[in-house]
Amino acid sequence: MKKLLQDVIRERPLLGDGAMGTQLMLAGLEQGNCGEAWNLTHPDRVLAIQRRYVEAGSECIITNTFGGSRIMLTRHSEADHVVEVNKAGVEIGRQAFGHREGYVLGDIGPFGGLLQPFGDFTVSQVRAALEEQAAALVDGGADAIIIETQTSLEELSIGIKAAQAAGAKCIIGSMAYDVTLDGSTFRTMMGIEPERAAEFMEEHGAHIVALNCGTGMEMQRARDAVVRYKSVTTLPVMVQPNAGKPQLINMKVVYDETPEQMAKGVVPLLKAGASIIGSCCGSTPEHIRAFRKVMGEFLESKGIESNGGRRESQTL
Ligand SMILES: [Zn+2]
Repeated sequence: MKKLLQDVIRERPLLGDGAMGTQLMLAGLEQGNCGEAWNLTHPDRVLAIQRRYVEAGSECIITNTFGGSRIMLTRHSEADHVVEVNKAGVEIGRQAFGHREGYVLGDIGPFGGLLQPFGDFTVSQVRAALEEQAAALVDGGADAIIIETQTSLEELSIGIKAAQAAGAKCIIGSMAYDVTLDGSTFRTMMGIEPERAAEFMEEHGAHIVALNCGTGMEMQRARDAVVRYKSVTTLPVMVQPNAGKPQLINMKVVYDETPEQMAKGVVPLLKAGASIIGSCCGSTPEHIRAFRKVMGEFLESKGIESNGGRRESQTL
């Protein structure tokens, strides 16, 4: 039987994937349109993106379901397709691996609003939407659920509980931090510090603590976050920084860190103890290929085969 993701990464680190949203735009998705609906209308294009990540070395693929909750899909008049969009997302992720072994992480992003009393949504509305999405992802065969780009612990806890209710075997909580104006530290938009987030996730039953996206959270800052997570939890840590900062060039959003620049941050992340390393907005299969190279060299220097197992233990 396939090992659980949280167990495998205690033996060796794995490589994640790169951005989906910016890749969908490159494949023709227009700003403001529903990328998740492409799981049903253009599955070939979603598959092509994820195949490129697998070919570049990704061992974990995140499904194209970031905005796949009923609340998000309703904004695109796609509420009739919640279950299909999410199940198709898992199926495409699995197809991308072909015969290779890999982990499909079912993606749940923010519901895109605020809970009462700050906003219009009730806890029960959000819970119902995330439970429905998590159930579809788990029924579709996802190996894990990742609740991503989170800024509030209240919303995160609804996501974790929804994944638990769906029977997810591995639950990843991933926060989006912003570097403060004076540059001294980073916290989420709702003021949550990484130590607090990690403790909260562990208390609530997450298996992996993570960070993704955010503002100003380049590779060095991601390393700081790993250290801060590790200071309060023994859970494995996953990181997916953006490819630098977004710049508007010819009315197109371009991220400014090259694969080579980002790849320089991979070994420090591994040394700090990161267990899954991928990347977020603006990154490409070329970024993942550059990560693969330095990660492979690092693991080889430690006597760890990147396809699993320590050399000395491989006897006939
Ligand atoms: Zn991002």
